[in-house]
Amino acid sequence: MPLADPRPILAAARSGRYGVGAFNTTLLEHGEALVAGAEAAGAPLIMQVSENAVRYHGGLRPIALATLALAEAATVPVVVHLDHAEDVDLVHQAVDLGFTSVMYDGSKLPDEENRATTRRVVEHCHANGVAVEAELGEVGGKDGVHAPGVRTDPQDARRFCADTGVDSLAVAVGTSHAMASRDAVVDLDLVAAIAEAVPVPLVLHGSSGVDDATLSTVVTRGMTKVNIATHLNKVFTRAVRERLDADPKVMDARKYVAPARDAMAAEVERLLGVLGARGTAARQ
Ligand SMILES: [Zn+2]
Repeated sequence: MPLADPRPILAAARSGRYGVGAFNTTLLEHGEALVAGAEAAGAPLIMQVSENAVRYHGGLRPIALATLALAEAATVPVVVHLDHAEDVDLVHQAVDLGFTSVMYDGSKLPDEENRATTRRVVEHCHANGVAVEAELGEVGGKDGVHAPGVRTDPQDARRFCADTGVDSLAVAVGTSHAMASRDAVVDLDLVAAIAEAVPVPLVLHGSSGVDDATLSTVVTRGMTKVNIATHLNKVFTRAVRERLDADPKVMDARKYVAPARDAMAAEVERLLGVLGARGTAARQ
């Protein structure tokens, strides 16, 4: 199926009060697992390549082409998204390669500069049919929306959307990145207040730190795109470790990566159910 535009997918989820899973891919097998899990759940999928993953691979093009090929071969709608790009040149590369979505992260910049740069990124992306996610910075300190104590102010979020024209907004409601345990306390009333105040779908970063019950609830309160990376990495790596422990003589990488890919696919399918997304691909 052709690469999907995230805007109608997120709009449908926002009005239907379910979540869209946005999961990171660093390895080819991650991407295969994400697509397999989304197909099993019958749900749309957002596959994310982060600026960190680009740095790991030494360039965007190889991981991008692999991810785009997986998306186009999928039987459910798949968006390929550049995650947390601080480098505007990298955003332009992603647009040129055919990504349908990018996150420009100017949260480390002074607030006015973040708004102005985000506005320019939006103009370039929209001219090329690409959707933009962004985040407010400075509101609660240098870690932007990702420090656990930081909270997004609903009216400031509303102004940020008006100033920049973004298609979705990452907000600070109690989560932080790369949490190893799922014990974040999400401010659900704030989620509802921001969802009421802003005209675009909201994005939860750091959702690996959120338990199943809260994930199910937060999407009913107005959160739409749910980013999960660390949790799936844990599932993948645990399966690799179990396989290697069980057979110390194994040499063929496929012998220990394939069970990890299967375990990750099963967890993706399960998480999409938790987000209420099962079967929603048919609504696109
Ligand atoms: Zn993030």
